[in-house]
Amino acid sequence: MEKITLAHGSGGKLMHQLIDSVFLEQFSNKILREKKDSAVFSLGQTRFAFTTDSYVVDPLFFPGGDIGSLAVYGTVNDLSVCGARPRYLACGLIVEEGLDRGIVERIARSIRNAALKAGVEVVTGDIKVVERGHCDKLFISTSGIGIVDRMTDLSLDRVRIGDSVIASGTIGDHAISILSQREGLNLGSRIVSDSAPLNGLTARIVSVSRHVRFMRDPTRGGLAATLNEIVTKRKFGIVIDERALPIRPSVKTACELVGFDPLSLANEGKIVVIVGQQDARRVLSVMRSHRYGTAARVIGKIVPGPAGKVILNTSVGSRRIVEMPSGEQVPRIC
Ligand code: MG
Repeated sequence: MEKITLAHGSGGKLMHQLIDSVFLEQFSNKILREKKDSAVFSLGQTRFAFTTDSYVVDPLFFPGGDIGSLAVYGTVNDLSVCGARPRYLACGLIVEEGLDRGIVERIARSIRNAALKAGVEVVTGDIKVVERGHCDKLFISTSGIGIVDRMTDLSLDRVRIGDSVIASGTIGDHAISILSQREGLNLGSRIVSDSAPLNGLTARIVSVSRHVRFMRDPTRGGLAATLNEIVTKRKFGIVIDERALPIRPSVKTACELVGFDPLSLANEGKIVVIVGQQDARRVLSVMRSHRYGTAARVIGKIVPGPAGKVILNTSVGSRRIVEMPSGEQVPRIC
């Protein structure tokens, strides 16, 4: 009997296989098959985006955030990259018997503050307590709903050869922050998670260009997973330039130390934007003027081939294929 492994939750190859063969198989419908970060649909005259996530991050508190703010921002961001203005969240907690009440209060306060910062409200919720040892301290599940402007049309079907690929900032910060906290790595400087609400940034992006084709937040599986999701089964590929990738020196050092590829490390406050080349500079400049996009860079472009592949032009002048991550680099990252 095949068993579920940590890699099935990694955001990489095995997770996509599991989703396709089990969940798309069982629930297949037109909205789900689009495999967006949120389901986007109309009810009456209004277009909605609707999404859900679970958070199992370990440790509960880390530099730059905690499981509460992470849950709020993660859900806000999945709505935002679909072009939605996030409005309401639902929040479910699963708590292990014996956890300090003070920790639950601290996390509730963090959820409230994060919701305030993102301009959303938690309007419904649930709490369950399980016996000691039946879950690890506290897990959170959040769902969110937002409104999508009629004019906003973000879809991989709109991607064209020649489009620019923009990353909103440095990659790998979240994963390395969690890892260094968990393993007690001494990296010289403290690496802070990038966990942040991106609805302000995405709203600005879609407001300045009609040629924004697609946005996605490169969370689990990192940039490697997101870029591969964009090209899979498409008649185009992506070429990215290693020298253009924004990576903090401390993250680079950590990756070398533990043998990680920064391209497959999770981010919690970054987006990838595909935009028509004619508007790339305009979009880049509004991103750079926003606090969560100051380090935005054009990292590559959409090319005719090899179709379905992501190619990295390395800093030493070679070319390599960037694969969909296959294993689990850091479990319980979010
Ligand atoms: Mg997402």
